[in-house]
Amino acid sequence: MNNDVVVIGAGPAGMAAAIQASSLGLKALVLDEQPAPGGQRFRAIEQRYRRLRAAGKGLPASEQKGLDLIRRFRESDTRFVDQASVWDISPGGRQISYLHHGRSFTIPANAVVAAPGAYERPVPLEGWHLPGVMSAGAAQTMLKMSGHPVKGRIVLLGCGPLLLLTARQLSNAGANVVGLLQTTGPADFLRATPYLPAALRSATLLKQGLQLLTQTPLVPKVFSLTQASIIGADHVEGVNYRSRGGSGFIECDAVLLHFGVIPNTQLSRLAGVAHDWNEQQECWQPVVDAWQETSAENLMVAGDGGGILGDEAAEMSGRLSILRIAHRLGRISDQSLSKLAAPLQRGLKRLAAARALIDTIFHTPETMLIPSGDTVVCRCEEVTAAEIAAANASGASGLRHLKVQTRVGMGPCRAQMCSMAAMAMITPGIRCGQRPPPPATVRAPIRPLTIGQLAEADVEI
Ligand SMILES: Cc1cc2nc3c(=O)[nH]c(=O)nc-3n(C[C@H](O)[C@H](O)[C@H](O)COP(=O)(O)OP(=O)(O)OC[C@H]3O[C@@H](n4cnc5c(N)ncnc54)[C@H](O)[C@@H]3O)c2cc1C
Repeated sequence: MNNDVVVIGAGPAGMAAAIQASSLGLKALVLDEQPAPGGQRFRAIEQRYRRLRAAGKGLPASEQKGLDLIRRFRESDTRFVDQASVWDISPGGRQISYLHHGRSFTIPANAVVAAPGAYERPVPLEGWHLPGVMSAGAAQTMLKMSGHPVKGRIVLLGCGPLLLLTARQLSNAGANVVGLLQTTGPADFLRATPYLPAALRSATLLKQGLQLLTQTPLVPKVFSLTQASIIGADHVEGVNYRSRGGSGFIECDAVLLHFGVIPNTQLSRLAGVAHDWNEQQECWQPVVDAWQETSAENLMVAGDGGGILGDEAAEMSGRLSILRIAHRLGRISDQSLSKLAAPLQRGLKRLAAARALIDTIFHTPETMLIPSGDTVVCRCEEVTAAEIAAANASGASGLRHLKVQTRVGMGPCRAQMCSMAAMAMITPGIRCGQRPPPPATVRAPIRPLTIGQLAEADVEI
């Protein structure tokens, strides 16, 4: 075994972990399925930098820090394997399997930092399966990778900082944004005021939030959205909506949905570590201690995969997990551990304190969180909300029972897109402190893999 630590994910958390490992003389192997490091926040940033430089321009300061992080990561003594999709992790994390250029490799791991990030909370709306509907994050990824925005008349719908950011980025790139429909309204700001004092400790975060709220594109806006359905025969033709201020219809060719982000727990669930329900963020997340260590020794989860706190916190948590591993390996003393960790742990506390404000302002209303009628909940298996409700009424009380009765969650997305909505449907008191049933079991492979690739796998013991 050549590595002291295997890091999964080269976003801010994974890169910071690798840089920290290298600075302490640990050998780190970093695996990421993308062609370049950066993660969601700094995706394709090196490419963008080269494009802008060729046009005689520079990156904005907020992006420059990502470029600097990637440079430090590339210059560190880290082995980085790009386009490496991790498809399995053994219980407790001592073995990792990944696919790289069509070949499968299984490697042992003494210590693991899983930093797989987050994904957008899927909220099934009527018509969300129509061509022309995509997530705001996917539209943003397309813009980051190609420099081109989505074509046609665009409506952005939902809530969260990323919705506002994408609206601004698309608009700046010349996209035809014709509407911004937000669930957020004055009542949400009012409900969030008790959290303002704690958030004031994160002045930069607050400033960024204010900029997002005040620098939205000059397009028709709807606030306090309570219901929406996407209309079209074989492609999006428009959105019908209802809000506290009335109802209406906007004609469009594309709808970009976004309702915040939730941790990507596929790997941590596959590794069998303990998870807990985060009531504030309405999602499952792995239970981690002050070092990001899960219930399995030397298996850390850093960054948004361990709880949504953003890129700055992701870097801090990545570094903390390595400090713990380095201390166990005898590379740093008790004293150095405390000295290096203290500012990181303080920073994480400060950022976590600001989170309650953000989560309260950007809140999905119950009318949209819980789908009904003919709304397709599971797009892979085409299972509707009515079918799930009927199965639940006939006694299917957990996700496993629902799966067996309706095939919800049995498709290629491995329940990533439907399980949150199905769970909300069968947990009537989810907004009143009622804990939902445990999430669906995750089984390998979590990425598509052929029998041939499995048979020819390179296994290192
Ligand atoms: C779609 C989307 C867009 C976002 N855009 C922004 C933005 O513009 N600005 C902003 O401030 N914040 C944005 N965020 C929030 C951002 O994710 C966090 O602030 C921050 O990037 C979290 O860092 P991380 O390292 O935890 O995860 P990420 O940056 O998400 O990095 C996770 C990495 O893990 C890799 N990975 C995941 N699973 C596997 C696997 N099985 N095998 C191999 N590799 C794997 C991914 O390819 C990715 O590179 C976005 C979030 C999402 C979901």
